[in-house]
Amino acid sequence: MIQLESVSKAYKTSTRPALDDVTVDVDKGEFVFLIGPSGSGKSTFLRLLLREEVPSKGRVSVSNFDVAKMPRRKVPRLRQTIGCVFQDFRLLNNKTVSENVAFALEVIGKPKHTITKVVPEVLELVGLDGKADRMPHELSGGEQQRVAMARAFVNRPLVLLADEPTGNLDPDTSQDIMLLLERINRTGTTVLMATHDHSIVDSMRRRVVELDHGKVIRDDRRGVYGVGR
Ligand code: ADP
Ligand code: ADP
Repeated sequence: MIQLESVSKAYKTSTRPALDDVTVDVDKGEFVFLIGPSGSGKSTFLRLLLREEVPSKGRVSVSNFDVAKMPRRKVPRLRQTIGCVFQDFRLLNNKTVSENVAFALEVIGKPKHTITKVVPEVLELVGLDGKADRMPHELSGGEQQRVAMARAFVNRPLVLLADEPTGNLDPDTSQDIMLLLERINRTGTTVLMATHDHSIVDSMRRRVVELDHGKVIRDDRRGVYGVGR
């Protein structure tokens, strides 16, 4: 589902590569933690998958897309197969919960009858069925992240990328968000989550890919955050 083959990325303004000869292969339906200290290349990894950056060397593929080489006009189609959630939620603050989720479908041209059917279903999936008409500022951080996950998932993407999704949440709320990510993963969605959260990685025992200075220094099938760290 996701393949990086000998991928390096050097930003023009930087002497050291952000990614250095990275090879990672993620199967459909896998759940993968991407860990490593700040500056190790996690965000660059995710941005390459979205074609927000192109590699300096190597090959990136997502589903059937040859991401680095694809023409720009096909990039929207790539991005429709990838849902994203972030540490800072990135909701539209002047829209209600259901409007935030509906918007993700409107921009890809889904018909109104589909939107009115699908939005309540996905809000129920994330446990927000009672809050459809609230504004984001009326919600807790955990609820806002649920809205973001509903929006990322409503289009049934093949891949969900989560960049520090629990970074602004307390431990209990973080656990709830992880249960939801597991639920999304069980539908067959491939999940790739960048995180610094030791306790979450240690409690889930999923695949761990660790980056350091742009290199993969560990790829464990059922990993923990780190021995002796
Ligand atoms: P992480 O997400 O693990 O913190 P990043 O992928 O953001 O790591 O950064 C990896 C390296 O690339 C760092 O040295 C960072 O300073 C550099 N970098 C990231 N984005 C850019 C950019 N747009 N321009 C120049 N250098 C960048
Ligand atoms: P954008 O920033 O909108 O993604 P780019 O300037 O990166 O666009 O790319 C413009 C065109 O150049 C694209 O159509 C793409 O096919 C091609 N291209 C860019 N980088 C690469 C690369 N590393 N390998 C092959 N083709 C590339």
